Amino acid sequence: MLAVEQGNSGQIVRFGAGLRHQILDVLEEIDCRRALVLSTPQQSDAAMDLAAGLNGHIAGIYTRATMHTPVEVTEDALCHAREVKADCFVALGGGSTTGLGKALALRTDLPQIVIPTTYAGSEATPILGQTENGVKTTLTDAKVLPEVILYDPELVVTLPPAMTVTSGLNAMAHAAEALYARDRTEETTELATDGLRAFVDALPKVLADPHDISAREETQRGAYACGAVLGAVGMALHHKLCHTLGGSFDLPHAETHAIVLPHAIQFNAEAVPELLVPISDLLGSQAPGIGLWEFAKSLNAPLALRDLGLTEDDLDRATEIALSKPYWNPREITADGIRVLLQNAWSGEAPGTK
Ligand code: NAD
Repeated sequence: MLAVEQGNSGQIVRFGAGLRHQILDVLEEIDCRRALVLSTPQQSDAAMDLAAGLNGHIAGIYTRATMHTPVEVTEDALCHAREVKADCFVALGGGSTTGLGKALALRTDLPQIVIPTTYAGSEATPILGQTENGVKTTLTDAKVLPEVILYDPELVVTLPPAMTVTSGLNAMAHAAEALYARDRTEETTELATDGLRAFVDALPKVLADPHDISAREETQRGAYACGAVLGAVGMALHHKLCHTLGGSFDLPHAETHAIVLPHAIQFNAEAVPELLVPISDLLGSQAPGIGLWEFAKSLNAPLALRDLGLTEDDLDRATEIALSKPYWNPREITADGIRVLLQNAWSGEAPGTK
């Protein structure tokens, strides 16, 4: 029997091996007959396989989803969706494909079914980032929250080890920042802690055996919890820094999150140590940022921004950009503080080394 849950925001959220094969039943449940299946070019084979199981209920396949949800791609997909008279979107993939489904739902208000294949967690949020003329903007709208999420652990088995780790740490970053969010509640703290626990427990297991389906399912439950808190509370320094590094220096999303997380958390632990105790407890460490850094290191995660192509000369400009738009953070953000944080993250030193 597959677990069936009703997500906090009315989403239908299901977990179970082989769940993708039940897609036809799900379409009937939501009264849709003409699905447009979405994927990236890299996952087009998986999209074709899924479409093959939709006999009679498929309108088309669109495999040009790409990073940062460019508006040109969305408009092209929208034309296609109208031509084929799609009545819903089935997004099979990571945050980039989910982003395209959300962008289409924003413009059409058609329902979305997401079948996630990474741990990014976008499927659990009403947030959409889009890029136009090189500028990425983010909006929150109930229309973009997917109606159905099907977490099939067999689909994350193909996630290469390096992506498994960085995507898992990306998810943990949502939960870590939720612990000190200004608008946190007891429920969001509990959900965030559950998400962190799932990854601390299951990431080493899936690295040791990528085909361990029960550990993969645990990581997906973690991804949902982490995504749900990302959608429920405001983020702070860590997400803003990653946004700056991704947007202005074109650094890859999940890897950047993986590297910056221990540093941002250790920085904020100076101001709110008591709120970050769940992280130290789960990792058995004295300090939450150090614990996260050692955990990442034990999983062979990337540790240095310089390995992603950022130069030491970029650090002053990154600091400037990070300080240019003020936002709430539990600890005061100063130029010196951010510059030191970035220096450590750039060189791959443990947080607080300099
Ligand atoms: P991604 O979707 O860009 O995927 C990276 C690559 O891995 C793609 O080529 C993809 O096809 C491939 N891939 C995905 N799953 C795979 C699998 N199981 N096996 C083999 N290859 C696979 O990466 P991502 O990190 O999931 O998503 C990043 C994007 O999501 C960013 O643009 C980010 O801003 C967005 N995001 C949005 C939210 C939100 O709430 N709006 C939340 C998190 C992330």
